[in-house]
Amino acid sequence: MNQPERELLTGPGPLLLVPDVVLLPEGPVDDLAVVIDDGCFEAVGPADELERAHPRSRAVRLPGRLLMPGFVDAHHHLTQSFGAALAFGEPSEIFRRVWVPLEGALDEESAYTAAKLAALEALRGGFTTVADAGTRAGVDVDVVASAARDAGIRCVLGLVCDDANDANDEKSGGGAPAEDPAVLRSAEKHLARYAGDPLVHASLALSIPEAATERTLRATARLAAESGAVVQIHVNEHLAGVERSLVRHGLRPLEHLHRIGALGPQLLAAHAALLTPHELTLLADTGTAVSYNPVASAWKGNAVAPATAMAERGIRFGLGTDGTRGDGFRLAEAAEFAQRLAYGLSTGDSSCGAGWTWLETATRGGADAVGLGARTGTVARGLAADFLLVDIGTPELALSWDLPWELVRRGNRDQITAVFVAGRLRVWHGRPADWDGAALVRRAAELARATVGKADITRAHRTSTEARALRRARGAAR
Ligand SMILES: [Zn+2]
Repeated sequence: MNQPERELLTGPGPLLLVPDVVLLPEGPVDDLAVVIDDGCFEAVGPADELERAHPRSRAVRLPGRLLMPGFVDAHHHLTQSFGAALAFGEPSEIFRRVWVPLEGALDEESAYTAAKLAALEALRGGFTTVADAGTRAGVDVDVVASAARDAGIRCVLGLVCDDANDANDEKSGGGAPAEDPAVLRSAEKHLARYAGDPLVHASLALSIPEAATERTLRATARLAAESGAVVQIHVNEHLAGVERSLVRHGLRPLEHLHRIGALGPQLLAAHAALLTPHELTLLADTGTAVSYNPVASAWKGNAVAPATAMAERGIRFGLGTDGTRGDGFRLAEAAEFAQRLAYGLSTGDSSCGAGWTWLETATRGGADAVGLGARTGTVARGLAADFLLVDIGTPELALSWDLPWELVRRGNRDQITAVFVAGRLRVWHGRPADWDGAALVRRAAELARATVGKADITRAHRTSTEARALRRARGAAR
């Protein structure tokens, strides 16, 4: 909108925002205001009361705007942003052929740039928090922390603790690997490294259960639980992974983790798409959290996580992009859409979570799943002021009958006016508020060409245009 509004939003001191609507956990509420001070919501309450109680706050009226919690991306790989489309059309387990070689070709500058590019895309899409599942680039993970901080996004930062080097190597056949005590020392260091950081929150990560020794799986679970952090592990994503686990351990990945004591509230299980009824019970009984990644399922998965059933069973879960694309509204919509197609159509469930489920798991549920439920995900007193101002005067949203569900089905990032993280304006109409986004994108495009050029990437699928030419050539030959 107009420039003065932006200036009002970026001035010093406490801020009193008076939008048309505030999205609270119980639903949208009119005539509310919020007071923001020192990065947090200091008060949330009736606008007239707060204006009287906070006369010295800078009051900004926001007609036609909704104030809602920022989205939480519960599963991302920030340093894979140079290659999103390289995975299109590929069969499962792309990490072997695309991601590991791509991340291996990153140096410090390109890893930083890739992570900052991903953070910018996320912020533009309304994500105020991303959980990074740990880079495999050969750089200090602090490079990713700096990129997140410089972009202005909250980041749950995974440190990869893999210590079984057979994880990516079929040939070794899964023989018992030697555990590596250095891995646990670096895990402990990493967990202490970001204490008190306003935006970066340490986490541990294991690529897949087979990537770590049982001792490390147990120890990382204990270390994370003790420090209130999460351990991120890709589990039950692909049939190949489930079958590998069955052959090695006689147990499916989640059952295997349960046997060795690695399930629990500290675990953030990425994907969990292939779940038996028994595994649903394990998740529910142990308080384990899941990242439901519907776009990743559509693009490269073998199944859609039974998220409506998970919600019914009280299983903790958030939504993750897995680096596919960074639009919080489209992610929430994909979450609902995938449930409808995979489960709702065959059972006649036309509600499939009644809209609110997907908005809630995209915000509060995600914050809880990544271990930040007491810090972000909700517009509430004392929590970090991580929020969006959404234009609800657009043709898509103005004639409103059911705003939460409309946000899920008709919203997208174009309607986001402003993104705040820790009380600071970070993105204004899709552009970074206080740094040069266009320059970053230009540099990323240069570095991406160079990085992909030298990475030993094997693709099974052609580009869209090549695939079309091939089909036409086949047609001509008939
Ligand atoms: Zn992933």
